[in-house]
Amino acid sequence: MRWQDEYAAERARMVEEQIRARHIEDPLVLAAMLAVPRHRFVPPELRVRAYEDRPLPIGAGQTISQPYIVALMTALLHLSGGEVVLEVGTGSGYQAAVLARLCSVVHTVEQYPELARRAQQILSELSVTNVRVHTGDGSLGWPAAAPYQGILVTAAAPEVPPALLDQLDDGGRLVIPVGARGDQKLQVWRRIGDHFRMKSLGLVSFVPLRGLYGWTDREWREEID
Ligand code: SAM
Repeated sequence: MRWQDEYAAERARMVEEQIRARHIEDPLVLAAMLAVPRHRFVPPELRVRAYEDRPLPIGAGQTISQPYIVALMTALLHLSGGEVVLEVGTGSGYQAAVLARLCSVVHTVEQYPELARRAQQILSELSVTNVRVHTGDGSLGWPAAAPYQGILVTAAAPEVPPALLDQLDDGGRLVIPVGARGDQKLQVWRRIGDHFRMKSLGLVSFVPLRGLYGWTDREWREEID
């Protein structure tokens, strides 16, 4: 389904100028970015800025990621349609809605019940039926639905959480920002049997992953202060 709305032209411009221009060319990813109405996932007062080339606040001190980063992380999973995918860090629900167009089911875990509730509500309003929103510590993954053929983490971890590697299926990919405030790299892990290969990509900037395998507030602050 394609949502026709007053922001369709702006969304098309976002895809051309922010995503295709930066060499993301997978037609399925571009189509998903063109289809999902990003403005519905931001607070009403920020709707007019929803298609800007930047993250935006969504409440609880959290953000909806920059469109290009959403597209890049999605493309790095190389989804072909039948996968069960885990997202850690639901936030607004936007990334989950993009993933949902490219795989079979998305399980997404959010630490804040209020954000999880709001994301669920927007996804329901948009009739996205293949996203399951959970509340909890996503640094532990979501073992009940494992293994996953793709895992995407949208908050920066001190190191890759072992629980997430455990829940990755053979051949599956895990995309995760790793590092401290101001010094994070996007990592792509691939499981091959009992072995893992890791590729480290460019610098990124995410809010901290919390929970058992995340940053404590103190550690996160001390990394810079
Ligand atoms: N994917 C989101 C979107 O499309 O709007 C953006 C997510 S925001 C950059 C990161 C999210 O990760 C925040 O909502 C934050 O509350 C959540 N988060 C951080 N640590 C978490 C944890 N251990 N478990 C679950 N969610 C966590």
